[in-house]
Formats: sequence, structure tokens, C-alpha cells
Amino acid sequence: AALYRVKSRGRGRSELDAGGQSPMARDLAAALAAGTSGGLSVHLQPVVTPADGEIVGVEALVRWTHPELGAVPPADFVPVAEREGLIGALGAFVWLAACRDARTLSEATGRSLFLTVNVSGLELDDPGFPDRVLATLAGSGWPAERTVVEVTESLVEAESTRSVHALHVLREHGLRVAIDDFGTGYSALSRLDTLPTDFLKLDNSFVSAITTSTRRARLLRSVMALADALDLILIAEGVETPEQARALASLGCPLAQGYLYGRPRPVAELVASLTAADVVDPPAVALASG
Ligand code: C2E
Ligand code: MG
Ligand code: MG
Ligand code: MG
Repeated sequence: AALYRVKSRGRGRSELDAGGQSPMARDLAAALAAGTSGGLSVHLQPVVTPADGEIVGVEALVRWTHPELGAVPPADFVPVAEREGLIGALGAFVWLAACRDARTLSEATGRSLFLTVNVSGLELDDPGFPDRVLATLAGSGWPAERTVVEVTESLVEAESTRSVHALHVLREHGLRVAIDDFGTGYSALSRLDTLPTDFLKLDNSFVSAITTSTRRARLLRSVMALADALDLILIAEGVETPEQARALASLGCPLAQGYLYGRPRPVAELVASLTAADVVDPPAVALASG
């Protein structure tokens, strides 16, 4: 905060000051204007089948390395971008980087992966959103059929027919929709009936206790039955231990994500690890497919 107070007195920022932006928003705007050299990037986290850890997709997660502050978590700057009119620009940056990196990864590994991208409720509510996403997909050569939009129920406001319409439009063009952070305080079961949805992403906090609580394991079984009944594919998030992975596999959970399988990383690192594993670790591959 002290750093921001000093910086905000710097020259050449008067226009932004007049716009009433906070210091963090000013720096974020500068980073966005600088493109890929502004400290913003996208990391990819593997989405896997829990029994064998085989990668089937990736989630794009935005990263910001501030010149003085270092890494700023998205939980800190995404809300600032939403409040201060930068979410459209941030979203545009993320979509472009995500499509480009997912294509790089798919081509390097020869795998037909899917890509999931987090979308803010405000972004979704912008009438130009579906067209911009479709244009980015077309321009980057990333297939709509392998793209999933992640939204949270709370952000798709019940009254916002525009947001729901945007999801319908994207689905008509082949994209899929995931409900993120399912099972947290803001989930409403009734929304599962009205939102156009394909995936349910079970929140980290839900997965953490599955090996220590039998009730939690039964709860997970019930959520899987719910997902099955509604033709939704369940993705368990935040898998950190082999015990959790085994529990998910034995319950038949179709997909999972977590530090156990891979942290979010720059595409180059992911390419290196995946292509290296194919070459030097054939037994693991044989085990996975056997
Ligand atoms: P999310 O979409 O639920 O993403 C999952 C978060 O859990 C990520 O945090 C990820 O790094 C973290 N995670 C993954 N595996 C594990 C694990 O095994 N254990 C634990 N403890 N955490 C794990 P991250 O990257 O800090 O992102 C936080 C949130 O910020 C995201 O939650 C998402 O809501 C938002 N966000 C991230 N990137 C974007 C973006 O590009 N656009 C928008 N609108 N929001 C984003
Ligand atoms: Mg997500
Ligand atoms: Mg999210
Ligand atoms: Mg989540």
C-alpha cells in the first residue's frame, strides 16, 4: 500500500488519476497495455483421469508478476479488474494466451486436449462477449469443440438473461460450460436446472476431507449420482494426496485436478515435462493405458 501511495504521485498518471482508478488498477492497466511484456501470463494446470493421472485437458489460470511487488494472486487483482473496468481487457488477454498455449501444448504432445477458461460474471454479462470469444477462437485456430467456459453460479445472476443467453450462444457454437467452485456457499441446486451446463467442478474444500470422513465420501458419491442424473461431468479440484486420488478413482469420479497431478505452469514447462515423460518413462504410459 505504501508503494502504491508513492507510485501514485508519479508523473504521467494524471489521466488515470482523473479516471478515479486505484493504484493497483493503474498498474494492471499498464500491464495490459504492454501485452505479453507487461508481466501478465497464463499458466496451464492439467485436468486428468484420476485413476492413472493421464492428462485430458488444461485449465488456464491468469498470472501477474508486478515489477515491484512480485507475484500478485488472481484472487487479489481479478476483483480489482472487475471493479475498475479492466475485466474486458483482462479477459481478452487471457483468452488469446490460453488458446495460443493450448494449441502449442496439443501440437507438441499430439494429444487432443480440452481447454477450460475462467470467465468473470461481468465479462459474461457484456453483450459483445460471445462474439469476441468466437473471434479469438477462429483467429487462433483453437477448436470451439475443445473449449469450456468456467463460470460460478453466483456470477450468473438469476435475473441476468443476457449471461444465460451468452452461454447458450457459445454452446450453439460448440463450446461447453462448467460450473466452477460447486459445493461452496454460493451453490444453488435450482440453478443446475436453469443454467446450460456440461461440467461440474467440485471445489477444493469439498475434496480435502474425502479420505478422513466416511460421510464426506458418501456425500461425494451422492454428488456424482446427481451429476450423472443431470448428464454433467464431474471434475474434482484440489487433489493433493495419492489417498484422495485413490478414493476418487474408486468412487468412479471421471476427472480431477490438483497439485498431485500437476501445478499450474507455463506452457513451455508443461510441454517439456509431457514430452520427456513419453520418452523416458514408457512403463508409466503402458500402465496408464493397460
Ligand atoms: P478456480 O477457477 O477455482 O481455480 C482453482 C484454483 O485452485 C487456482 O488458484 C489453482 O492454482 C488452485 N489449485 C489447483 N490445484 C490445487 C491444489 O491441489 N490445492 C490447492 N490448495 N489449490 C489448488 P489461482 O490460480 O490462485 O486462482 C484463484 C481463482 O482466481 C480461480 O479459482 C478463479 O476463480 C480466479 N481466476 C484465475 N484465473 C482467472 C482468469 O483468467 N480469469 C478470471 N476471471 N478468473 C480467474
Ligand atoms: Mg476455475
Ligand atoms: Mg473460477
Ligand atoms: Mg474452482
